[in-house]
Amino acid sequence: MSDHYQVLGVSRDATGEEIKKAYRKLARKLHPDVNTAPGAADEFKAVTHAYEVLSDPEKRRIYDTTGNENGTDNGFGGGFGGQGFGFQDIFDTFFGGAGGGGRGPASRTRRGQDALINVRIDLKDAVFGTDKKIDVETAVVCPTCDGSCCQPGTSPRTCDICHGTGQVQRSVRSILGQVMTTAPCGTCQGYGTVIPDPCHECAGEGRVRSRRTLTIRVPAGVATGTRIQLSGQGEAGTAGGPQGDLYVEIRVSPDPTFTRDGDDLHATLTVPMTAAALGTTVTLATFDGDREVTVKPGTQSGEVTVLRGLGVTHLRGAGRGDLHVHLQVETPTKVDAEQEELLRRLAELRGEQYAEGRLSTSGSGVFAKLRDRLGNH
Ligand SMILES: [Zn+2]
Ligand SMILES: [Zn+2]
Repeated sequence: MSDHYQVLGVSRDATGEEIKKAYRKLARKLHPDVNTAPGAADEFKAVTHAYEVLSDPEKRRIYDTTGNENGTDNGFGGGFGGQGFGFQDIFDTFFGGAGGGGRGPASRTRRGQDALINVRIDLKDAVFGTDKKIDVETAVVCPTCDGSCCQPGTSPRTCDICHGTGQVQRSVRSILGQVMTTAPCGTCQGYGTVIPDPCHECAGEGRVRSRRTLTIRVPAGVATGTRIQLSGQGEAGTAGGPQGDLYVEIRVSPDPTFTRDGDDLHATLTVPMTAAALGTTVTLATFDGDREVTVKPGTQSGEVTVLRGLGVTHLRGAGRGDLHVHLQVETPTKVDAEQEELLRRLAELRGEQYAEGRLSTSGSGVFAKLRDRLGNH
């Protein structure tokens, strides 16, 4: 069993204040909300356990004399044991809680807020994922006072007015006569202590604004609106409170060639009328490099060729969507005399009764074909 004094890094004759200070510093560094390194959670538990024993004079006395917090008669068994110990409990215990419960002084220490920033990426980066450098500006723990809010070498002083309770009693005249009410102390703003010499760098807030560059991993498959959570990278709290989280919200820029529908991509490929009739092969620049798209002889406008697995990577699970290539047959808009002659000759050969600019609806049945097509949809 490890020594509780060693765990907290204090001497055996450390004062209660020193123990509290040491714990507070370690807890801030190791708290699972802030520190995701392997082993940090266990270390945090050990540190919290050590504090729980050494901060209680009775438990500390037993620990000092027996080397065992349960004492020889196991009198304290079950108090801590295997039940775990909520951080919020101990946090509230010595930071004063977030206003709930007791009437003690308010805490200067608050968890920092979550921060949100938007990051714009290209569609290709959404398909494959990318590492993205981002500039973030958040509050960080003040490096000068380390979150204590006090100019180095000074410390908070118990408030003279409320004597550390954070509350003052006031007598108020009302229709019922003289009534006593309790209000937060105006001198210390209810904190119970005043800071006689606030840290010059952070003006006594315990945190300062800082700009930094982070490289974040944007996973493949993200879409506009996807949020990536970075634990403990948000705003530092006041007076050394833990940092909030940072959320990075993704915006995917529109792509000139490809549109996205779920994890499928769509592109339109225009082929000349003659190529559509005769068949051809077209090279298409996909996100995976050049791919040959076969245009079968007799291709109709609106036909779709699917290139399997060339879409967006699935954010969850394996595999990728498909790339749908929509073929659009381009009818010539300008033909010269020779081309017109050839087209007329072609119409003739195909038995299309095309004469004097009118197409007969008899025979092959233009309307019938149209009806068939509509029926297919
Ligand atoms: Zn400071
Ligand atoms: Zn006060």
